[in-house]
Amino acid sequence: MQKTVIRTLLINANRDQYVQMAKLLDAVAVSDYEMTWCADYAYALEAMLAPIHDIILLDYEHAPDVCEELLRSASTHGCTTPILCLTAKVNPELDRAAIKAGAADYLVKDRLDIASIERTIRYAIDRKRAETELARLAHYDSLTGIPNRLLFNDRLDRALQRAERGDTPFALLYVDLDGFKSVNDTHGHDVGDKLVQGIAARLNQCIRRTDSVARIGGDEFTVLLEKVNSTNDTITIAQKIIDVIAEPFNINGQQMHVGSSIGIAVYPEAGRDATTLLKHADMAMYEAKATQGSNYRFFTAKMSSEAVDQNRMDIELRAAINNDELAMYFQPRVSLRTGKIVGVEALLRWAHPERGMLLPKDFISTARQVGLMVPMGYWVLNRLCSYINQMDDMGIAPLRISMNVSQEQFIAPNFVSTIESILSSSNVAGNRFEFELAESDIVANLAVIADDMTVLEKQGIRFALDDFGTGFSSLPQLQRLPITTLKLDSSHVQKVTTDDDSANVVRAMIYLAHGLELKVVAEGVETEEQKAFLIENRCDHLQGFFYSEPLTFDEFTRLLNSEGATSRRSYLSVVDK
Ligand code: C2E
Ligand code: MG
Ligand code: MG
Repeated sequence: MQKTVIRTLLINANRDQYVQMAKLLDAVAVSDYEMTWCADYAYALEAMLAPIHDIILLDYEHAPDVCEELLRSASTHGCTTPILCLTAKVNPELDRAAIKAGAADYLVKDRLDIASIERTIRYAIDRKRAETELARLAHYDSLTGIPNRLLFNDRLDRALQRAERGDTPFALLYVDLDGFKSVNDTHGHDVGDKLVQGIAARLNQCIRRTDSVARIGGDEFTVLLEKVNSTNDTITIAQKIIDVIAEPFNINGQQMHVGSSIGIAVYPEAGRDATTLLKHADMAMYEAKATQGSNYRFFTAKMSSEAVDQNRMDIELRAAINNDELAMYFQPRVSLRTGKIVGVEALLRWAHPERGMLLPKDFISTARQVGLMVPMGYWVLNRLCSYINQMDDMGIAPLRISMNVSQEQFIAPNFVSTIESILSSSNVAGNRFEFELAESDIVANLAVIADDMTVLEKQGIRFALDDFGTGFSSLPQLQRLPITTLKLDSSHVQKVTTDDDSANVVRAMIYLAHGLELKVVAEGVETEEQKAFLIENRCDHLQGFFYSEPLTFDEFTRLLNSEGATSRRSYLSVVDK
């Protein structure tokens, strides 16, 4: 049987005792002891911290004060090797002090026998291993092996202490992945896990030795940058993080893409304690997320005043729903071939009593964060049903109304049955509606949304893919959904005449969509040149200021009337083709 080798460091100033100890250990039958002797206590700490020993024997007799200090230093430096103290005789006080300072156990030198040495050493090693394993489990994320929230909090506290002493600034980065949920939903958790592991590994490569990365949530990471001398240092690292995450991942032979949003809180400007810094980095992260694509944002004092604003807006918005301050505007969708109105998109507005007419960009993110998307969405559907009844009463030919529906609504409990009951109580058929869903929203909850869509489609409701070209999805991925229309995002449409890339992207998207038998609507068309480009490339419909801005209900019905909509020709048949 092969003997285990136990690499032993003996710290002891007395050569005779070293020789004696080496002899004793040699006699242990079950293990081979490989001895390293350190005779000078001045070099002891360095030797103790080298992670090459299995056990350290520290002779305590020589200078108890020095030894106690050594034990403490070893422990604060994270020494991973168990330390046994050697004492001359039984001295309970000294033993207790040594154990308290971090020793695993002690051996009394003049009572040494082979069996007790062997047992004590074994215990110490086994116990240390178990302890290390436990500490690892408690402080490290089991999936990625990088520090978890607990260890991160500890490191943040230490960084704060150091910064307070020297007033050296440090930066806290809050990294949140964009599009991770969709990878998880479409490819499964195994792939999601591998992606997280890959990201953790890349993050570790981005940072300097003095910095640390932690995983603090499913797809949330923090990075602590110490001793940052300038804002530029921080920006460089933030940008590097964005770049390495943006690189495609190859998982099980498939290419995966995710983006990231980073919020940055710098000590002391963004806070002097851990809670405030974390909160502010998180706020800045949300700001970064609010803009398309991967971005970083520094926390600014303005953001906290915005948080106060958001609180006020939450209260006001709840009241607005009840006080009927919300309003629907209507923007026609026009056929590029005939120039006739083929549909209309209903757009939400808030007639704020003090601030005037607010656009969705002014209040949707608040609504989202305070959980008002769902009630607001039902308000919209109810209001549109009553408008549809009014238009019918006015003798206007039935027209399909496109309504924006967010993912929060789709995943809300009883979404489908609530839609059905609103339609039936207003006596409006499902085929009067098209639901527009943003590409990124669909991908984020593909499975649930697909199920809901199938049920609603049977009611006659149609689906359009909104803001296409702004997310990570690919058309084939969405092919199995009952979508009939694709809306090209205005960011591409508005550049078709000035930017070759956008022109190519739009051309390709129209081509792909037609291959899947989808109708294509170009959003945000503002100029004659854009319209000409779209006609040339066989885009089907146009929506934009070029034809009409969003109109009030009265303005819109007047427009329909002037277009001769009362001629009983059904708009539905036009759209349905
Ligand atoms: P969307 O669904 O992509 O709506 C198109 C947006 O483009 C509208 O902005 C519209 O006014 C604007 N737009 C149309 N033509 C032009 C143009 O030629 N040039 C420019 N610059 N803009 C144009 P709006 O009304 O501010 O709505 C913004 C977004 O808010 C909508 O984007 C939609 O995602 C969301 N939204 C609007 N109403 C609702 C709603 O009732 N429910 C939900 N969940 N979201 C809504
Ligand atoms: Mg829309
Ligand atoms: Mg859109």
